[in-house]
Amino acid sequence: MKAFIITIGDELLIGQTVDTNSAWMGAELSALGFDVARITSVHDRRDDIIYALDEAQGKADAVLITGGLGPTSDDITKHTLCEYFDTKLVSDPVVLEMIENLTGRRGMPMNDNNRRQAEVPESCRVLTNAAGTAPGMWFEKDDTIFISMPGVPNEMKYLMKEHVLPELYKRFRSQVIIHKNIMTYGTFEAKLAEILTDFESGLPSEIKLAYLPSSGVIKLRLTATGTSESELSDLISKQVTKLYETIPEFIYGEDEVSLEMVIGKLLKEKNKTVSAAESCTGGEIAHLITSIAGSSEYFNGSVVAYSNIVKKRILGVHGALFEEYGAVSEEVVREMAIGARKLFGTDYSVATSGIAGPGGGTETKPVGIVWIAVASAKGVVSEKHVFGTDRLTNIKRFSLRALNLLRKQIISE
Ligand code: AMP
Ligand code: MG
Repeated sequence: MKAFIITIGDELLIGQTVDTNSAWMGAELSALGFDVARITSVHDRRDDIIYALDEAQGKADAVLITGGLGPTSDDITKHTLCEYFDTKLVSDPVVLEMIENLTGRRGMPMNDNNRRQAEVPESCRVLTNAAGTAPGMWFEKDDTIFISMPGVPNEMKYLMKEHVLPELYKRFRSQVIIHKNIMTYGTFEAKLAEILTDFESGLPSEIKLAYLPSSGVIKLRLTATGTSESELSDLISKQVTKLYETIPEFIYGEDEVSLEMVIGKLLKEKNKTVSAAESCTGGEIAHLITSIAGSSEYFNGSVVAYSNIVKKRILGVHGALFEEYGAVSEEVVREMAIGARKLFGTDYSVATSGIAGPGGGTETKPVGIVWIAVASAKGVVSEKHVFGTDRLTNIKRFSLRALNLLRKQIISE
């Protein structure tokens, strides 16, 4: 069960519009059990469109096409489809009436462009579009289905949900696909793959494992393909149990959960509060924590202690530490965490001090170094890490490292 996606539009090839249609359709098609085997973007040019159609013909069961259906002369998809399927344009009375209603409601008179939008290839099945003026078109040639939809994302989604997905489901529902995500943090992809070598080779043939890393979080996606949903669910849960046995120290959650979500849940359950003192992360930790709805229940505040003066005056870090160890040091970050915990009156406080780069590194303190600390009633824990040289990536990675240390502290207490 194979699907190809073709997106048509000059804007997609010159970087003006990001092809979000393919991503959305790819997710929907794979959830339906399709193997999305190819995504092609082409210009609004006859030869390029024909080439992409030819490439899909006979190789894909379903070809989903978007773009080039506007009423203006630069949009040529409809004419090209007519040529490809050897048919001609005819006016569709139902579509014409829908367009009349739509333009009437918007107080605009119908013009020739609108009337042209009601013209459809004679041999296609028309998919009515209540979200816009251009209808979708369903063709079949030998064993391949071709479906053409407008490029406007909400119109494409309307047609997909209303017509295309239900119809494809009816025709191709023989296969079931189940995904399960296990969220990990604390090691890098190559290392994780090494640890999971035996796990991977022991996977049943129905299950595939993918590593999806982002800023230090590695999502492990298990995908099961087969015919029986209950059998696949059983297979997946056995593998999930195995993963928990193999890498318990790295798993922090399932599905799309983030570290800040897990922390929020833990703090709420334990009825505890947190604050932050951020130097190199500049408020990113506070931003991550407060991006979770309901965080006011457990987050009191953060000091962006970027200068030493703020570290001293607001957080009470001893001045002598800066001369002796420097601002990026275990000694300073520990006092920052203690200071913030006192200042905000919270159960926990998390602090960062590091060099985000790209400049400012030294031999002993390279760019990408970060000291993090978490203070609680039990005392202070601290860690040093060294990441790369890209500033924004570092800020994100420092923050997630700090959140993970906080998470581990909350769990351990
Ligand atoms: P069209 O059907 O070619 O007239 O497309 C209309 C508008 O939809 C374009 O101007 C783009 O802004 C948007 N669009 C077209 N194709 C895509 C795509 N693949 N992903 C996201 N937006 C798109
Ligand atoms: Mg276009």
